[in-house]
Amino acid sequence: MGSAFDITVVANSQSEGEAYIDAAINEIKRIENLISSWDPKTQTSSINKNAGISPVTVDPELFQLIERTLKISQLTKGAFDISYASMDRIWRFDGTMTIMPDEAAVNASVEKVGYHNIILNKAQSTVFLKEKGMKIGFGAIGKGYAADKAKQLLQEKGVTGGIINASGDLNAWGNQHNGDDWMVAIKNPMNKKKVFSWLPIKNSAVVTSGNYEKFVEFDGTKYSHIINPKTGYPSYGMTSVSVFTKNAELADALSTSVFVMGVETGLNFINQLKGVECIIVDSKNEIHTSNNIQLNKQ
Ligand code: ADP
Ligand code: MG
Repeated sequence: MGSAFDITVVANSQSEGEAYIDAAINEIKRIENLISSWDPKTQTSSINKNAGISPVTVDPELFQLIERTLKISQLTKGAFDISYASMDRIWRFDGTMTIMPDEAAVNASVEKVGYHNIILNKAQSTVFLKEKGMKIGFGAIGKGYAADKAKQLLQEKGVTGGIINASGDLNAWGNQHNGDDWMVAIKNPMNKKKVFSWLPIKNSAVVTSGNYEKFVEFDGTKYSHIINPKTGYPSYGMTSVSVFTKNAELADALSTSVFVMGVETGLNFINQLKGVECIIVDSKNEIHTSNNIQLNKQ
């Protein structure tokens, strides 16, 4: 998935633990083979290749994942949109971009973006991108989905506790082997080595979207790899957004969405959702939390 996974399991022996971890790795690879838009052999690539041409038959699993992404697009009024992917031609977040694209180019880049044009046919299990040049990508939800599925598989195998951690996007269940809760450290954005607060995670997920790694800077403003699908401009003003909820797929999608929405709209949005909390660090390194989060600052 282009990112490192750390897998922790509670097991009776080293070999049992390793077998569980292998099973989780296979599950993550299986999902990558379904949702990667880099690998030309995946069903997702096939959907993209057939944009504007014809519907593509996909596995129910992929169909249902796309169905859920459309619900999140509706819920977030389009802040989250897997069809953002056609914009990747104008923005690069690997340090190779030196000038800001002009307004006309940015406006043109969103022409092919729009989740309304992702057409699902449940009876046939097909996905059709209506416009030629449209593309979908699971960059903002795939890691969370993979973490959930790996967790589910291990739970089915009887693993009583563990953590699937996809580069900081994690889903935990059960307890540590000594019965303690799993704890997650929220780092101080001013001093990454210093833990700012510890929070217990009980059978739930924590996902962070951040712009510490992938961003491009123009005139002192850091533009992140999370793009506003409506304007075509990368979001700015946020350093990180962490979302806490039961499953990592939703947390992943919502952390990206809040990044696009900004502090005020984002907090308002999260406060309206039951069982979802968030911590936002803005670009001035100020910390904002949703209503039910108390940080025991250290
Ligand atoms: P991270 O990569 O920090 O874990 P996210 O989970 O928020 O962050 O995912 C960011 C990725 O999601 C981007 O690199 C891009 O592939 C994709 N993306 C960017 N903007 C959007 C958007 N508005 N809606 C859906 N996906 C997006
Ligand atoms: Mg995300």
